[in-house]
Amino acid sequence: MMSAERPPATLRLRIDGSALSQNWQVLDRLSGSARAGAAVKADAYGVGIDAATAALVGAGARDFFVAHWSEVPPLLEYVPGEQIAVLHGIGNAREAAFARALGVRPVINSVHQAAIWNEAGGGPCHLMVDSGINRLGLPLSDLGAEPIARLQVHTLMSHLASADEDSAKNDQQLAAFRDAIAAVPAREYSLANSAGIALGSDYAFDLTRPGLALYGGIPRPELAGQIRQVVFPEAAVMQIRELGPGDSVGYNARFVAGQNMRVATVSLGYADGFLRARGPGGVLLHQDCELPILGLVSMDMIVLDCSALPQLREGDFLQVPFDLPGVAEASGFSQYELLTTLGHRFERVLQSG
Ligand SMILES: *Cc1c(COP(=O)(O)O)cnc(C)c1O
Repeated sequence: MMSAERPPATLRLRIDGSALSQNWQVLDRLSGSARAGAAVKADAYGVGIDAATAALVGAGARDFFVAHWSEVPPLLEYVPGEQIAVLHGIGNAREAAFARALGVRPVINSVHQAAIWNEAGGGPCHLMVDSGINRLGLPLSDLGAEPIARLQVHTLMSHLASADEDSAKNDQQLAAFRDAIAAVPAREYSLANSAGIALGSDYAFDLTRPGLALYGGIPRPELAGQIRQVVFPEAAVMQIRELGPGDSVGYNARFVAGQNMRVATVSLGYADGFLRARGPGGVLLHQDCELPILGLVSMDMIVLDCSALPQLREGDFLQVPFDLPGVAEASGFSQYELLTTLGHRFERVLQSG
């Protein structure tokens, strides 16, 4: 029998849709009188734009943030253009024309961007002011510029540099943002990301912009116990073999067996975002049984010691630990990096309920 139907992948990303919905609802509630939006840039932080947006729209989210114009078309399947904000704004007339044709709102970041938008005919937009991160955003000293005065600003926003720390910078940015509010008329105001929501109601204004915490990240201890894990990666065992004393494993023979052992080769490698730094001391799980990683992580595979699990079979799926704060702590990668480097070979499976 021949079938051109694509066989199931040996890498799965189970997305717990109800955890994602609940995380949005928790963040919406913690935002007090403000409503929570959702940052879905970078393919919803690696979770997958389709799975994530379906769950977020179902939960009640209305305001979506991406960085690039290329990220807009997939989102338009779920939400109207006016509910989509493009954080990088516009750098040329083609981007402005695209925004206007789709009714998507650019986040204007500079006098230069404002002039391009006005020149293209303008319309509702958002304005990002830089209150101290010195990255992307209008310097406060440019608030009075003529192209800025001509904008129809729907949401005036700013972005916190250190919301995940107890830093004096948070108060300073809050004060600077209040100065901007006094200077620019807008329909709504927005300052807080995930960590900013945990800083309290002073930071909430009308709209919050969580990203990380939607997907199970915990940027501040206040959110622990409230945010649930959303992403559950799983990888299949492809081969099981026996090693004897002196047999080495993988490139550069970085692991050498000291005794007889049973090892499993698993379909997960650095091309899937499982970078080499996560090898030493790392494990995959079979239910509660920890299987240590041996030797270097390859592009498409890793090898595990499965001596403790004689019942393990080729084709079985193993769980990749992905409680974000814990894995970040152990690996040295940020929770953001762990999510956004998840590769394209995972089959993303949305599980709701
Ligand atoms: C990415 C981003 C967010 C979301 O931040 P998290 O820390 O992931 O919650 C909010 N606002 C802006 C401007 C962003 O670039």
